[in-house]
Amino acid sequence: MNVSEQLIRLVNNIFPQTCEGCHNKLSHDNLLCTDCMYNLPISDHHLIDENKFTDHFLGRVSIEKGAAYLNFRKEGAVQELLHNLKYGGKFFIGEMLGRMSAEHITKENYLDDIDLIIPVPLHKTKKSIRGYNQCEAFAKGLSTFTNIPYRIDVLLKIKNTSSQTSKTRIQRINNVAESFFVSDRIDLNQSHILLVDDVVTTGATLESCALSLKKKFPGLKISMYTIAIANS
Ligand SMILES: [Zn+2]
Repeated sequence: MNVSEQLIRLVNNIFPQTCEGCHNKLSHDNLLCTDCMYNLPISDHHLIDENKFTDHFLGRVSIEKGAAYLNFRKEGAVQELLHNLKYGGKFFIGEMLGRMSAEHITKENYLDDIDLIIPVPLHKTKKSIRGYNQCEAFAKGLSTFTNIPYRIDVLLKIKNTSSQTSKTRIQRINNVAESFFVSDRIDLNQSHILLVDDVVTTGATLESCALSLKKKFPGLKISMYTIAIANS
């Protein structure tokens, strides 16, 4: 064992690498342990045109296709991953989930017709408090795996809205209405974008983003993808 290997072993013993789903010690350099990986509640939305995800947007905004990578379950690896991505300062969780999910859905060429990935933005005040936008981490991972570019300068959050967590669907829609700004620095009228978010609950945020984008670019096609979908 050379000096750097000894050093790595020493650091790993002091700060053991743990599974981001269950906190058990990991024997390999990965996001999740074998158990959490095996039990990850992966959805099959990308194989079904009309699914639980697209149901959220029926009659509200027209989308080409929509899917979530995981089914959200309270108390489990998915909740742990999302919590640590959003509040634990772990940008890399979003990136890893972006790459893992891209590997899963590109087997069926799901993203072949996508020109650009756009993450749901955070207001700059919230972003500076959190240090990053968790949806951007996910977009970056998807982009790394697929080579589809992502941009964070097209869709901006201009209203610093309160948390959506404890709100009803109507309250959520009112809360995010008119809170996004779409820049005209590129023309997206002939494009097909993938709008990405961390979790879809009622779909109010994604709906508001999509309506703002379509208002600016009536010819734009929008598909949606999230890390997880909530049960409600
Ligand atoms: Zn685990």
